[in-house]
Amino acid sequence: MATDLFTTARARLDDAARYVDIEREIIEQLRYPKETLAATLLVRMDDGSRKGFKAWRCRYDDTRGPTKGGIRFHPAVNVDEVMTLAFWMTFKCAVMNLPFGGAKGGVSVDVKTLSRAELERLSRAYVQAFARFIGPERDIPAPDMYTNGIVMAWMADEYGTITGHPSPAIITGKPVALGGSLGRDDATGRGGFYVLRELRDELGVSPDKTRIVLQGFGNASFHCARLLHDDGYRIVGLSDSSAAIYDPDGMDPYAVMEHKNRTGSVAGAPTRGHARALDNAALLEAECDVLIPAAVENQITEDNAAAIQAPVILELANGPVSPAGDAILDERGVIVVPDILANSGGVTVSYFEWVQNKAGYYWPVEEVHTKLRAIMDPETRRIWEVARDKAVSMRTAAYVHALERIGHAVEARGTKAFFNPLG
Ligand code: NAD
Repeated sequence: MATDLFTTARARLDDAARYVDIEREIIEQLRYPKETLAATLLVRMDDGSRKGFKAWRCRYDDTRGPTKGGIRFHPAVNVDEVMTLAFWMTFKCAVMNLPFGGAKGGVSVDVKTLSRAELERLSRAYVQAFARFIGPERDIPAPDMYTNGIVMAWMADEYGTITGHPSPAIITGKPVALGGSLGRDDATGRGGFYVLRELRDELGVSPDKTRIVLQGFGNASFHCARLLHDDGYRIVGLSDSSAAIYDPDGMDPYAVMEHKNRTGSVAGAPTRGHARALDNAALLEAECDVLIPAAVENQITEDNAAAIQAPVILELANGPVSPAGDAILDERGVIVVPDILANSGGVTVSYFEWVQNKAGYYWPVEEVHTKLRAIMDPETRRIWEVARDKAVSMRTAAYVHALERIGHAVEARGTKAFFNPLG
């Protein structure tokens, strides 16, 4: 049930609150989204008819700055999912110390049924409906599932038409030609790679002896795989929605991508030894040292958590491990590097895009990489230390770390202790 998703997400908050010396009213504030707007988008279809689509935008908390979060186009999108994703964004931005709160948006639509012109009208209709709600200083959207750079370009253009002037900082994930940042393409995979590299010694995952399996072979996964491969790691398994391949001798992700681009699937891609075809579920349970789920939510649950062989899981996808799965992994001593840390490279470079848009001054890609690493490495180390010092999982440590930051921001405006020092 969708409502369960939000309830479960909030359970993370309660869990983290046990380890933070924080006033109850701060937790109370973070239990609810600040505001959520629902709208119906009425879109003219190619056949001349008019069709309604349900749409939402949630600004979960803006104590630390304008809210930030993607827009998802998917038939299953609903208000609870949007609120949950906005909640996660609030913590993800705080984990990286970005001056943002969290938000999310969505439209309940199957984009595969739309023509390109219909998709453009839907994207523009979204901005028309939410123009008062979003803004470069208020709420800055970005791409998410089934939205991409072109959708962001239409949305930025529509916002500029409404306001009467170009406003590139209204949205991130734009094409570079329209003010997108260099280095945004591979930022999520790169961030995951930096996290693993920073914890190389602690996790015992040096390149020479570490075998990696990745689920999914899209944007996040491919770039992470290629950076790990370039660093000397052995990629032994990969999958996409149609197939999974496993070869203990390893594979070259560039060659697999070339094969996938040509054939549409990773099935039959060249590897170093004799590749075995597996089904997707079996790949998760295959022998490896680091498992990187980088596809969709809820892949490791109470049904398969006991069978996972990897001692380390790096969550590049959002929410790939269910809470019940998480508990089993934790009990077994499997270290899960949580999504709000592992995949935060994407939102961090989105922040860089916003900064560059506001300054009107654009950075070379090397500068983006250097600045990304300068943020990710110390935050990763800090979360590792919190986990060690408080003897909690890395997930709880990441929430604790974020909650401390959000808590300080709320406190700085005054809480009960300030207004009622004696009682
Ligand atoms: P994408 O669409 O580029 O790639 C998704 C990949 O997963 C594709 O290869 C698809 O074939 C595969 N896939 C889908 N269902 C699968 C299944 N059941 N089993 C195996 N493979 C499956 O998407 P992406 O941008 O790489 O995002 C992947 C995950 O990373 C999502 O959870 C997303 O929320 C998260 N993420 C992405 C970014 C980003 O900047 N791209 C940022 C933060 C989080």
